[in-house]
Amino acid sequence: MAWQTIAKSERDWAVTPNLQNYEDTRRTFSWESALRELDGLPEGKGLNIAHEAVARHADGPLRNHLAFRWLGKNGEVEDFTYGRLHTLTNRFANVLQNLGVGKGDRVYVLAGRIPELYIAALGTLKHRAVFCPLFSAFGPEPIRARLTIGQGKVLVTTQMLYERKVKTIRASVASLEHVLLIGDDHRPTNVPDTIDYRTLMERASDAYAIQPTDPEDVALLHFTSGTTGTPKGAAHVHGAVVAHHITGKLALDFHKDDIFWCTADPGWVTGTSYGIIAPLTNGIASIIDEGDFDAERWYGILQSQKVTVWYSAPTAIRMMMKTGPEIVRKYDLRSLRFLSSVGEPLNPEAVVWSKEVFGLPFHDNWWQTETGGIMIANFAATEIRPGSMGRPLPGIEAAIVRQNGSGAVEEIRDADVQGELALRPGWPSMFRAYWGEPERYKKCFAGGFYLTGDLAKRDRDGYFWFVGRKDDVIKTSGHLIGPFEVESILMEHKSVAESGVIGKPDPVALEIVKAFVVLRKGFEPTEELRRELLAFARTKLGAAVAPKEIEFVASVPRTRSGKIMRRLLKARELGLPEGDISTLEAN
Ligand code: ATP
Ligand code: MG
Repeated sequence: MAWQTIAKSERDWAVTPNLQNYEDTRRTFSWESALRELDGLPEGKGLNIAHEAVARHADGPLRNHLAFRWLGKNGEVEDFTYGRLHTLTNRFANVLQNLGVGKGDRVYVLAGRIPELYIAALGTLKHRAVFCPLFSAFGPEPIRARLTIGQGKVLVTTQMLYERKVKTIRASVASLEHVLLIGDDHRPTNVPDTIDYRTLMERASDAYAIQPTDPEDVALLHFTSGTTGTPKGAAHVHGAVVAHHITGKLALDFHKDDIFWCTADPGWVTGTSYGIIAPLTNGIASIIDEGDFDAERWYGILQSQKVTVWYSAPTAIRMMMKTGPEIVRKYDLRSLRFLSSVGEPLNPEAVVWSKEVFGLPFHDNWWQTETGGIMIANFAATEIRPGSMGRPLPGIEAAIVRQNGSGAVEEIRDADVQGELALRPGWPSMFRAYWGEPERYKKCFAGGFYLTGDLAKRDRDGYFWFVGRKDDVIKTSGHLIGPFEVESILMEHKSVAESGVIGKPDPVALEIVKAFVVLRKGFEPTEELRRELLAFARTKLGAAVAPKEIEFVASVPRTRSGKIMRRLLKARELGLPEGDISTLEAN
């Protein structure tokens, strides 16, 4: 793919980046030195995420510093200083203690982005139980499946969600001993077989001492997005906090006065690692928005909260692009200084667009639920190659590998050759298990590598370029094509808002490239436009890679975390069973 570079301007240098020289930092970095940036539990009693995130700041100079500002759907605002967050999370840890919940027991939270979710998460970690977030839009079946896999003992949810989604499946989850209900509109709840959350919190003590925590104690259970199949429960340990902390500092460039906004829901790993843990360990203030995506609401928040560092996702960026640049210009967004994105490939067009409208480029970074934290990133101090995920974080060794004829994994050292993206195990936030699926876990490792299931290339300067998921790659007339490349080119056409590209079986070519295209406002799905797009793609991509078929659609299926579900486009195209669609966004 042809690429341009985006050099940094004065605007990008509002503060001196934490990582100034990539090669030097890589050379001098060690996980031991990263660990020294944290405090550890008093008297050498180990490492606990919630201690690093909250307790150590609440007992120090950041006591009255803003930790979270919560913005309610209907305009409410509530501030949580580190001191207040400490007290509330102590209370929740005591609630668990009083219920007889022990170390390692799984505490699930099913809720929208309300303060109780964040308090329960951190209180659970203080108590050394395992926090497992569930996305609030899940229906009863995905909730049941995940509770069953993790053998949840406690569920914290709202009265409304309980009545709509949990009541019917409650009896089938034998492990579930306690359901704590958050009353709607702050009213106490009175529902059989449940306990009122607020009553328990009011009765609990403000004081809680975190017990010795081994860095290898399990802390988090996170389900993957289910883009390629059945969601897996990835287990992470308390020691992961070293990676959360240092990647927040180096990849998201956190500085002490930052106001950070991670738009991800904690139902997905980004919303926990970077929506809760990393900003807190770094002692900065974060915005939590309960509301759903709405371009104007978002620009309004960036403006009114004077957000400096913003972490979002390609789907949201594409939706902003769809609403046009004029709206952005109505807002004063001069506080922004660093923009970053994760979750899906970030189309080069989106990087160029953000440079145009915000004066700042989005910095793409790559990681997975399994890796627990950012692994490959574009950094504040270095040039961006739009379309590239950037370079591995200090402490992370990434490689491109292939399996040879006898099945052994070998590293591809040549530049620009496609293979599977692999990582050398050993970073602190690497998952330690797929809950209850040891075989599936074992299969991820070979030849001394963790195999990510993604295909990528590395250019001669060490920048990684995403090609596609192994399962999504299209094989046509002897070529291997990643859908992302085709989707990105289509997006360069003024009429295209979004697209999903699949391989459609073909007797001659093995597969042909088919694109599902969502049009921007003001464009009609005519035969003429279809032909124009086919020709446009052919000019840019060449006949071998360009789509042979284009179908206009109102939307493409996405996971609730915003990823295009190409496997579903394909199943529907071929009239095959849809497979696991528990994470499919309803639209
Ligand atoms: P499942 O594993 O259940 O199919 P999933 O892989 O989508 O779901 P996540 O762990 O949430 O679940 O997502 C990680 C995946 O998202 C990566 O493996 C990669 O395919 C994609 N991804 C994340 N960030 C990027 C990025 N910057 N560029 C390209 N792809 C990305
Ligand atoms: Mg995955």
